[in-house]
Amino acid sequence: MRALETIFSRLFVAFKWLSLLVAAGMLVLFVGPLWNKWVVYPRLEEEIMTQRGLYRTPERLIPLESYQGALHAHTYWSHDSRGILEEILPAAKAANVEFIFLSDHKRNALDSFPRSYHGLYEGILFEAGTESNNLMISPLRDVVLDWNIGEGALIRQVVNEGGLALYVHTEVPHDWKNPDYQGMEIYNIHTDFKDEGGKLIGFVANSLVNAGKYRHWAYREIFDEQTEIHALWDSLNQHRKIVGYGAPDVHNNQSIRARYLTDGLVEWVGPNAKTITIRKSNWIDKLLFGNPDEAGWVFKAELDTYFHSFQYVQTHIFADSLHSGSLKDHLVRGHAFVSFESMLDAKGFEYLATDGYGEVLGIMGDEVALADIDRLEASSPYPVKFELIKDGKVIKTSESTYDFSYQPKLPGNYRLTARIPLGGEWVPWVYTNPIYIR
Ligand SMILES: [Zn+2]
Repeated sequence: MRALETIFSRLFVAFKWLSLLVAAGMLVLFVGPLWNKWVVYPRLEEEIMTQRGLYRTPERLIPLESYQGALHAHTYWSHDSRGILEEILPAAKAANVEFIFLSDHKRNALDSFPRSYHGLYEGILFEAGTESNNLMISPLRDVVLDWNIGEGALIRQVVNEGGLALYVHTEVPHDWKNPDYQGMEIYNIHTDFKDEGGKLIGFVANSLVNAGKYRHWAYREIFDEQTEIHALWDSLNQHRKIVGYGAPDVHNNQSIRARYLTDGLVEWVGPNAKTITIRKSNWIDKLLFGNPDEAGWVFKAELDTYFHSFQYVQTHIFADSLHSGSLKDHLVRGHAFVSFESMLDAKGFEYLATDGYGEVLGIMGDEVALADIDRLEASSPYPVKFELIKDGKVIKTSESTYDFSYQPKLPGNYRLTARIPLGGEWVPWVYTNPIYIR
């Protein structure tokens, strides 16, 4: 009897310590997220509202329309996404996205176009494309491509026939000397997410606690400046023009979701859009399920929604019209900049070169002669800190101004970063392509 008592009392002590340990663990895990919810994010939100109050209608000098959108996004056509138009369209509209260049994973070496979504849907332009082996191509025409011919030959074919070939996931090795690819990601959400490592559990806990109105701030917890990739980009541009752009790389697949199939069956879908189970609906389902959303999901706990990814990072392209051909032509010319739109909408931001009469000689991405140029000029709808970067080095900054002006005396590649004040730091908001002074 005494032995039993001893066992019970020991078990009780062990249980007590275990509970304490779990409670301490939960406290450590959720203290940060709750602090963010009650203190940090409301403060950031207030700072951004103050910034928004400083909006100034920008002067328009660039004689082209500007369109903003997503380069690199996945749909149901990829093995690791279930995304359909019914959820992509409202997300795109809410995030001010005007075009989406898709990058679905190919199903076969023989890759046929067009497919899945392409064309205008309620005013939003979709273009079909493939991502494979860290290469993204959009042929922009009816064609069957053969990936077996090898990457170099495929890039050449796509580019020669008027399509687009871009290097994605630029944190991993590529054939940087390939003479035909046109651009590279200088920011990709997934690239940035990969370096979180040990902070991952904290990120998930924070995302759960802040899944509501502060989800865009929780999402931005992954943000790191991609200094190595930018250094690589600058060095590649010493040899030939390589256009930089931003990629949401959205799959909408880091989630647990459920939906009804026919015959009272329920499908539970887990991370990477994989089916967890298909079975008869039971009482637990009925307890958890709500009304179906636009895509038919009756339950969802998700991290990477289309809306938040689209809003996070966008590429603005100065083009003639909202057509794939025009967007592609101008993107390839470097008439583009990257912006982090969950903070502020960058529409109206301009960066250009003028001559002695104040006439526009060229815009971001263009090559201009040193003999002709008088000034590099930029204007922003919000006051920012401009950083002028020549051949990879910051050569001039100006804080809290709407306008920027610089008289270049030397040839080189001049690009701009615009930063906004946030949480006591100057956070990057816009990255332009360089103006190439020769
Ligand atoms: Zn991708």
